[in-house]
Amino acid sequence: MNLLAGKIVVVTGGAAGIGAAICRLFAGEGAKVVVADIDATLAKSLAEEISGLGIAVDVRDEEAVRAVFSECESAYGRLDILVNNAGIVPPQVNIWEIDLADWQVVLDINLRGAFLCTKHAMPLLKVHGGSILNMSSRMGLHGAPMQSHYSASKFAMRGLTESVAREAGPFGIRVNSICPGTVETERFRERIAGRAKAAGITEAKLIAESFTDPAALRRVVQPEEIAATALFLVSDAAAAITGEHIRIDAGR
Ligand code: NAD
Repeated sequence: MNLLAGKIVVVTGGAAGIGAAICRLFAGEGAKVVVADIDATLAKSLAEEISGLGIAVDVRDEEAVRAVFSECESAYGRLDILVNNAGIVPPQVNIWEIDLADWQVVLDINLRGAFLCTKHAMPLLKVHGGSILNMSSRMGLHGAPMQSHYSASKFAMRGLTESVAREAGPFGIRVNSICPGTVETERFRERIAGRAKAAGITEAKLIAESFTDPAALRRVVQPEEIAATALFLVSDAAAAITGEHIRIDAGR
């Protein structure tokens, strides 16, 4: 439908999972997409597939983040949309057993990365207006046992979203977040395999008990379904929506 014709987009963590689904959908809608990911090989191969630009970046590194936006400007002359998607889901651990270093890694990738990318995207976005989309989580709306670091980082993403929406609005920049429930990515399947083995139950039983039975729609969510909502939020269809959070979790 070409909803994003002529738009220039940076997607962090764009090389796999939800980010890759967003890159593919946005490119299919006419955008030029910068796939910015710590995995250089995957970023470049997806960029080639969608005729975009693949850039290796660790979103925790301010100089590397600055370079992403200057490369974007050199290649395309502007920026319209930033998707702060890069993030990690840590293993489940009680708070009294979380190492400080592990706590810090989660907060650094999930939150500091979004701060740095937003900071360095703003000068480009302010030129023409645009949109920022932050990947929060269902665990950014409700606390979850053994996920306190992850949940705290995702609650913070919503605070960042609402605050930056207030600051950036006068420049014609909208800022929203998506709060996915369980999304069936390759990484999710790996996590399930590990947890099922540790619990001594089948993957099917674990998925049913923990994810699909509690969901009104009795299923998990596909990455393409997150991408579809991302497209809505950055498109003109959502022109008056800012500082908002959309939960996509099949009715958990
Ligand atoms: P994923 O692991 O499949 O993909 C994440 C991507 O981010 C990978 O390509 C990885 O290389 C990249 N990345 C990791 N650390 C990085 C860093 N420091 N700098 C740059 N890139 C980095 O994960 P996903 O499941 O697609 O998750 C994407 C986002 O969605 C994350 O923010 C995650 O917290 C959020 N989320 C996922 C789910 C889910 O069930 N999959 C649910 C709610 C929220």
